[in-house]
Amino acid sequence: MIASSTLSIIYLIGSVTFILGLKMLSKPDTARKGNLIAAAGMSLAIVGTIFLYKVNDAPLHNYGWIFTGLLIGGVIGVLSAKKVKMTAMPEMVSMFNGMGGACAALISIVEYNHIYTLTKNLFAPVADDHLVLQLLESSASKGMVLIILLSLVIGAVSCAGSIVAWGKLTGKIKDFSFSGQHLLNLGVLALIVGLSVWLLLVFSVAPGTGIILFYLIFALALFYGVLFVLPIGGADMPVVISLLNSFTGVAAACGGFLYSNPVMLTGGILVGSAGTILTILMCKAMNRSLKNVLIGSFGGGAAAAAGGGKEQGNYKEISLSDAAVVLAYANKVIIVPGYGLAVAQAQHACHELEKLLEEKGVEVKYAIHPVAGRMPGHMNVLLAEADVPYEKLLEMEDANAEFPTADAVLVLGANDVVNPAAKTDPASPIYGMPILEVENAKVVMVNKRSMKPGYAGIENDLFFQPKTSMLFGDAKKVLQDLLTAIKEV
Ligand code: NDP
Repeated sequence: MIASSTLSIIYLIGSVTFILGLKMLSKPDTARKGNLIAAAGMSLAIVGTIFLYKVNDAPLHNYGWIFTGLLIGGVIGVLSAKKVKMTAMPEMVSMFNGMGGACAALISIVEYNHIYTLTKNLFAPVADDHLVLQLLESSASKGMVLIILLSLVIGAVSCAGSIVAWGKLTGKIKDFSFSGQHLLNLGVLALIVGLSVWLLLVFSVAPGTGIILFYLIFALALFYGVLFVLPIGGADMPVVISLLNSFTGVAAACGGFLYSNPVMLTGGILVGSAGTILTILMCKAMNRSLKNVLIGSFGGGAAAAAGGGKEQGNYKEISLSDAAVVLAYANKVIIVPGYGLAVAQAQHACHELEKLLEEKGVEVKYAIHPVAGRMPGHMNVLLAEADVPYEKLLEMEDANAEFPTADAVLVLGANDVVNPAAKTDPASPIYGMPILEVENAKVVMVNKRSMKPGYAGIENDLFFQPKTSMLFGDAKKVLQDLLTAIKEV
């Protein structure tokens, strides 16, 4: 009795820390603390469950298995989080998300087998009183089977999809699409739903059946997860990653229902709803409808190739000393950070440049595109790491309003997010995506290492416009050289 009320209090504290942590994650200056608070709540809930949770009035056993699993998972988690480069963070997030989906699917497999065995024995002679009680309650099993199926399908889709997303982000898996892909995707989804309904019907008339059907649904859900993410390419991965994240949350919430575990339920609902809101925001940022995301196959390799082969003309270069003069004599400079800045780990050098220019009386701001980099909020995190004041960061709409008043824009390792084809070329795979309209400033300087395309694999017309000059080189080296050159101006 005491153990159960202590556990309820622990779950309440856990739930409150999740909500508080999530709230604090929404601001860069409180995000670290929010993460720690939520992690502490999660640790408390895990320890409480291990030592105080009771199954049929008996405490948990199998401590050897539980602690070995915790140790292996914990060591892998800590080592990979410590080792991961900032630019490889999205891959890691994707893989960890996939593991969450796998957990939900595994819970479903264990629980279905549990119900299956119990109800199969319904007609067999039973000695165990407790088993008899559970069997008598088997009418409740239909609802449980529904939740198990939901968790199985959503978890398996999320697991397989996230692993494919990880493969694509690391470049190990290439975009793959074929004609009729939409129809196949819809067909497989319809088959999963149909078989699940059938299993529920079969189960209600003859409990203890349908184990093969159950595993068939599992295999189809894994297949759908692969089909769903495989064709997505170009600039559209952020939407899919946050959608998969919300799937894992919903699958975990199903686990909470299954075990009547409030902390698992709260955690799952928070992840599911936060992921859904982020997906909607990402869709808006990418100008994609959620329907397109759900049936898959958008912005893939074929589309990218279609927009990629256009003849663009000549581009001009600017020397370091000329770039230093332009920046030092400007009244207002807007810096546009992109994925290349993260690759070069040039955020500190960038902050140094900003401080130096401000000492010279130049107003400096940063324009942040919602999908710049490789994960939602990537640029915010990167610049916060270098202590760039949050007030200096302009969101896309505000930045677009300010570009006409800027004397110079310095694009640092950004490409797709400043590509005017999104506004002007209906054949482009990124057509319709809102972009940073840097071309409205007086002068545009673009730093990158070559004329190679960005993530979407398409040419960028901006680089060939008369206002634009290319400043080639690794972002960190270029920024360090610019600092020296500006000091001499
Ligand atoms: P892009 O990937 O479009 O372009 C980055 C540019 O950086 C490249 O063109 C590259 O050119 C340059 N670069 C790479 N390394 C360096 C370096 N060391 N120094 C200087 N430049 C470098 O980046 P954006 O940020 O503009 O756009 C993000 C893209 O990623 C979008 O298409 C977005 O949809 C997609 N995406 C975003 C996610 C998110 O959640 N934010 C998740 C997944 C994908 P070069 O090789 O010539 O140097």
